[in-house]
Parts: sequence; structure tokens; C-alpha cells
Amino acid sequence: MAQQDTIAVIGAGIIGSAVALALAREGRRVLLYDRAEPGVAGASYGNVSHIAAELVQPLPSPALLFGFWRELMRFGGPLDMPPRQALRMLPWIRRFAVAAFRREAHTRALAPLVQPAAAAWERWLAGIGRGELLRRHGHYEIGFGVRSGDVMRRQAANMKPLGIRTATVPAEQMLALQHAAGAPIANGLWFQDSAHLTDPLAAVQAFAGAAREHGAQLIRAEVRALLASSGALAVITESGSQPVSSAIVCAGMDAPALLRPFGVHAPLQAVRGYHVDLPGQSAFIDAPLLYTNHHLLVTPLAGRLRASSYMEFADSDAPADANKPALLRRKLRALGYRCEPDGPSWVGARPILPDYLPGIGRVPGAHRLFYAVGHQHIGLTMAPVTGDLMADLVAERPTRLPVAAFDLRRFGRIATND
Ligand SMILES: Cc1cc2nc3c(=O)[nH]c(=O)nc-3n(C[C@H](O)[C@H](O)[C@H](O)COP(=O)(O)OP(=O)(O)OC[C@H]3O[C@@H](n4cnc5c(N)ncnc54)[C@H](O)[C@@H]3O)c2cc1C
Repeated sequence: MAQQDTIAVIGAGIIGSAVALALAREGRRVLLYDRAEPGVAGASYGNVSHIAAELVQPLPSPALLFGFWRELMRFGGPLDMPPRQALRMLPWIRRFAVAAFRREAHTRALAPLVQPAAAAWERWLAGIGRGELLRRHGHYEIGFGVRSGDVMRRQAANMKPLGIRTATVPAEQMLALQHAAGAPIANGLWFQDSAHLTDPLAAVQAFAGAAREHGAQLIRAEVRALLASSGALAVITESGSQPVSSAIVCAGMDAPALLRPFGVHAPLQAVRGYHVDLPGQSAFIDAPLLYTNHHLLVTPLAGRLRASSYMEFADSDAPADANKPALLRRKLRALGYRCEPDGPSWVGARPILPDYLPGIGRVPGAHRLFYAVGHQHIGLTMAPVTGDLMADLVAERPTRLPVAAFDLRRFGRIATND
């Protein structure tokens, strides 16, 4: 295969598969590498399928900073950062704290990628004839107890200046939820512009499959390294070296190792979440439900409900904590879901840069090396928009949205020998 025309995309999660499709449908010759089948090996497999068009603000904020440590003390709460882990993460935490005071500027950078997410998904899925995967029913935030009305009013007021539309959920629509949870008082807020997919893995497979129909080649291999010489690149796998004209690193939590030899610092932290699936159950409402008191999200997927929670700061390959899915199941039963005390669960790592902005850009130098990494809690949400932006970068045309804020040079450079 001629080196000149070939673009390697490393990682076939939702980001890499979207990038591969965006490039292949422009007639580019794409090699999509993954150590596993598309979507099965990373965060894209088990996310909770919410197109979170409302999450336009990066998480670090002064308010969170000052409430952060209190959250840590809550036994069984959603946030888990053991002291030893916090010590190891000090440089990351320091950058997180700095980012908290730049939230407004960071929101201005991030919001244009997030707010149009449901429309972008609709366009992309219609383009490949898979529109049935998307439900544009919004999502609901549900609170129980006497303070829930105030909580919802505050949340609606916070959303308004960000351009996020919300509406109060009518009392009669809340009744089934209240009844199931045995809660005398409940309030809800409907976010009408968010959405969900009926199967996040099917979405990755749909993008990767469509890329293949446009001529992309899916290669099942572990990429050991990317090598550069005289402005050209080579992808190194067990079977040898493949010369390519460009490469795009979309390798989720494994991206830093591939980028480091080029002096690129991608300080990704794994923030792990757990899911449990409830097969054969129908939803109270056909949309994701965020239970604010319980810190969990329940999304209707094809043939099942999926519930997810937790922010566990740990190595991405650390053993799963069996207590967390067990507690998740107890909470689901308390909310009125039919949920066995035991059953299969999944843990996966959200790839998070300390300022909660993604890394989207090109590595400086003669070679054509790009990256699309660090899509935090909303990689599914941002995948089509990221695909469009990467196609612009590779084509060296002006990007349709500004990407300067996502350049990984914001974290400095790692010294290399060259
Ligand atoms: C519990 C949980 C719930 C979530 N819920 C949502 C949600 O509701 N909405 C939302 O928008 N987002 C959600 N997310 C976040 C979302 O899942 C991620 O942001 C997104 O999946 C990241 O996609 P990715 O393609 O960058 O990484 P991944 O999905 O991790 O894919 C990376 C791929 O690269 C491959 N790879 C890595 N290194 C190599 C190598 N050297 N050689 C070959 N292959 C390699 C891996 O095998 C993997 O397939 C959630 C995440 C979690 C954990």
C-alpha cells in the first residue's frame, strides 16, 4: 500500500471509529487499528449511552474544589480517591485546581463541541442508515425529598445562561417514579436537547462498519509504537512495520505511551465508573434518568436498562471493586427496579485530562501525527463532532470549530533524545 495515501487511526473505540468514518467518507485510505474488535476493549463498550448535550461546562470549578474533599468522606459516595492515589496524582490535582479558576474560558471552548451533539449524532446516523440507534427524548434529573424542588429550580437557573433548555416535569409524570421509590416528595427537570443511543457498542460497530464500507481496513493488532523518520511515519505491530503518511492516536487511556516518544505530554487519569445491566425491564420514561440523591444514571438500552455510577480514581487495569456494583444494585432496588443482589457488572475508565478539555490537535513537526484523546465523561457525546474536526485537521483546512484550546502543548513538552 502506498505510504503517501494512507492514514493510520490507532484505537477503534467510539472516537477512533468516528475519526475513521469521517476520513474514509472523504475518500481517504484508512487503516483502523485496535487490539480487539471495534468498541469492545475500552470505555466505549460500557458507557451509559447518554448524549449529554447539557454538559457544556468542564467539571473543575471553584465550587467543586471546595466541596471535593467533603465528598471524599461520604462512605459509599460516588467519588473514590484513596489517599495513596491522591498523593500519586498531585501534579494532576494541581492542574485540576488551576483549571477550576479558568472555567468560563474553558466552557467557551468546550460548549460548541457538546451543545450540538444530538443533532450531530442524528446527521451521522442518518448518513449511514442507522437512525434507529438514536432517541431524541432528552433526559430527566430526578430528586426526592423536601429540598428537591429548590435543587431543581437552582439547576434550571444555572442552565439558563448556558443556553441549556429545561422544563419542570409535571407532577403526574413523576407519580410512577415516586411510587416505585416509595418517595412522598419528588421533583424533576427535563433537559429537552440531550438524547440517548439504544446501544453504545452498536454505535461503535456502526461507525467502524460504515468506515469499512467506504474502504477503510480494520486491522486487529496491538500497536507497539509509532516511529518517525524523514517526515514519514511507521506503525509498528507484531507483524512488522507499516509506513503511513499520517497517523491519528485515538487510543483512550493508552494514548500517552504512543505520544510520549514525540515529546507530547498527555496527563490522562483513569476515572473509573461501573455499570450493571437490568435485562428485560422497561423504563419508567424512555430517556436517561439521573437520580440526583443517589448519584446514578439509568438509561433504556435495547432489551435492557443500564445503570451507572462512581468516579473511582485508580489505574485503569486495577482490579474491580466488587462492593461498588453491589451497592449500585441495592440503590436500584430501593428506587423500585427489579434487580438481583448479584449479577454481572462492568468497570471502565473515562480518559480524563486535568482541565477536563479533550486533546484534539496535531503534533508539531515534519511528520503528520495527530491525536484525539481525553474525551472524559462525554466521549460518546462528542464523537461525531470530533470526527468532523479531525477530518478538517488532516485535510489542513480551517477547522469548523476552534480547536486551539485542545492542543496538548498546554501541558508542556516531555524531553526526548531528538
Ligand atoms: C461508566 C462510564 C459511563 C460513561 N457514560 C457516558 C455517557 O453516558 N455519555 C458519554 O458521552 N460518555 C460516557 N462515558 C465516557 C465515554 O465512554 C468515553 O469518553 C469514550 O468511550 C472514550 O472513547 P475513546 O474511543 O477515546 O476510548 P476507548 O473507548 O477506551 O477506546 C480506545 C481504544 O483504543 C484501543 N487501543 C489502545 N491502545 C492501543 C494500542 N497500542 N494498539 C491497538 N489498540 C489500542 C483500545 O483497545 C480501545 O479499543 C462513560 C464512561 C464510563 C467509564
